[in-house]
Order: sequence, then structure tokens, then C-alpha cells
Amino acid sequence: RAKADGRDMARFFDPSMQNEADRRAAFELAMRDGLSLGEFRLFCQPQFDGHGRLVGAEVLVRWQRGEHGLVGPDDFIGFAEESGLILPLGEYVLEESCRALARWERDPVLACLKLAVNVSIHQMRDSDFPAAVATILDATGAPPKRLCLELTESVFAENMQEISERMYALRSQGICFSLDDFGTGYSSLAYLRRFPLSALKIDRSFVHDIGIDPASGSIVEAIIALARKFKLEIVAEGVEHEAQRTFLVHGGCSSMQGFLLGRPLPMAEFEHMYGAAGAGHA
Ligand code: C2E
Ligand code: MG
Ligand code: MG
Ligand code: MG
Repeated sequence: RAKADGRDMARFFDPSMQNEADRRAAFELAMRDGLSLGEFRLFCQPQFDGHGRLVGAEVLVRWQRGEHGLVGPDDFIGFAEESGLILPLGEYVLEESCRALARWERDPVLACLKLAVNVSIHQMRDSDFPAAVATILDATGAPPKRLCLELTESVFAENMQEISERMYALRSQGICFSLDDFGTGYSSLAYLRRFPLSALKIDRSFVHDIGIDPASGSIVEAIIALARKFKLEIVAEGVEHEAQRTFLVHGGCSSMQGFLLGRPLPMAEFEHMYGAAGAGHA
């Protein structure tokens, strides 16, 4: 989804590199090295229900890249998708996420959470993906019903039959799916029924405009009504202000995440903060 090329790599422009091909090759090499050196780090953002109870978390990857510091996913996911590196990167994120879920089993608070992991359409295109996920679940001992995969509306531009079969195969393992950034992409309402989805995530652009632009409030209400009809849960992202939270809670939004409620934290800090023995419960 994130646009690659210019935007991704502009920040890493090395003036000694004359052409685009060299820059891409260097960036690819840096990412490969980063992967093998374990420079990609999982951050975790908490999700709360309307009563303020912690119900889940979303995994967000970052790249701790030497002198470049902490690099956000918008600066490398697009490139990873174009270069194919999204497959090993996605597998790494999934494996680390499942390791976390297995650890969380031993914590009375964290054991109840669902963990949402972003999955690229490139991973879904891979016919071996369901088997790879099964292997990871097996090897880590993560409870599949705690794992939720987030897809974007770009799945609707694909061979829907194939993607939907793959989703059913994953769902039969106990995994659920949510549709990320809902309302920004290709969605046709007719498509919603073709996929085994559990939740819609309202894109943060709509949440941002609640209370600013009356139309956004109406869009949010319409998405919530739609989700009810389709028996889907609603997750709102990008909740930054109390007025947005109140609006969403009154509208019947099942869960939400955002800077108001909790920033993404490095996995270990998340566990420390939100686990049973953690700072959040002192
Ligand atoms: P997303 O899945 O929609 O993730 C939500 C983004 O919103 C995250 O940005 C998060 O840090 C940010 N966010 C959370 N709360 C707030 C808020 O209150 N206000 C604002 N303004 N932003 C908030 P991040 O971490 O930069 O991730 C950007 C995108 O990168 C993600 O969007 C997702 O599409 C992609 N991404 C992240 N991790 C992965 C991954 O492991 N695999 C894949 N394929 N994509 C990933
Ligand atoms: Mg997401
Ligand atoms: Mg999103
Ligand atoms: Mg987004």
C-alpha cells in the first residue's frame, strides 16, 4: 500500500550513487542485512473496548537502522513489496508475533488479548502462505484464535476466488481477519461477503475528521451500521482526542486504538506496561 521508490528511499539518498538502480540495489542489500542482523523490531499498540478495557494489540514493524535511527514502515514496506523482501520480512514479523502470543499465554492479562498482524497482499498471493502460517503456529505454540491478520482493501483487486479460498484455509486454523484502512480503497460492499472477515478497521482519516467535518461523522456512523448488518466488529484507528473516543463509543464501536489511548511501544515495553505484573497495573 505504501508507495515505494521516491518516497521510500528519498530519505536515504546517497549522493555518491548516480542512478536509481544503484540506489535500489543498495537499499535492498541494506534491508537484507537488516533482516539477518535482526534490525527489524516489533512494536505493539494497545486496543481498548468502549469501557476502556484492554482487548488486543496491533503489531507495527520498525527498522532500527544504524545511524539512520528508527525507520517507520512507510519508508520501507513499499520497497519490500516491490523487491519481494516483504516475504521474508512478513514471515519474520509473523514468527515474532506468534512467539509473543505464546509468551502471553503465561500472563493472565496478556493471555486474553488478540494480536493483529498486518499482512501484505504479496503474502496472500503466495499459495504456500497458509502452510507457512501453520508451521509457525506449530513451532511457536501460539494459540491460533488469538491471531488476527489485517488485510487492506487491495485484496479486492486480486483474484478473489483464490484469495478467499486461502483466507478460508487460514480461518480453518482458527485465525481471523480484519480489513484495514476501510473506506479508503477499492471496497465494494458486494465484496465484503465474499471474504471471511471478522472486523472492519475504520481508517484514521475518518476518525481524524470527526467533529471537524460533519460528513466524516456520518461516514463513521454508516460504516458502523454496515458492520452491524454484516455482523462484523469495528475497530477505529487513530483516536487522538477524547471527543473522537466519545463519538465512537456512543456509535457502538467495538474497539479502538490511537495515541489518546496508547502509543505503539517496543514489544518488551508493551509487555512490561500492560502485562499482569506491569506498570499499567501498579
Ligand atoms: P496501519 O496498519 O493502518 O497502522 C496504523 C498506523 O497508524 C501505524 O503507523 C500507527 O503507528 C499509526 N497510529 C496509531 N495511532 C495513531 C494516532 O492516534 N494518530 C496517528 N496519526 N497515527 C496513529 P505505522 O506504524 O507508521 O504503520 C504504517 C503502516 O505500515 C501500517 O498502517 C501498515 O499498513 C504498515 N505496516 C506496519 N507494520 C507492518 C508489517 O509488519 N507488515 C506489513 N505488510 N505492513 C506493515
Ligand atoms: Mg493495520
Ligand atoms: Mg489501518
Ligand atoms: Mg493505515
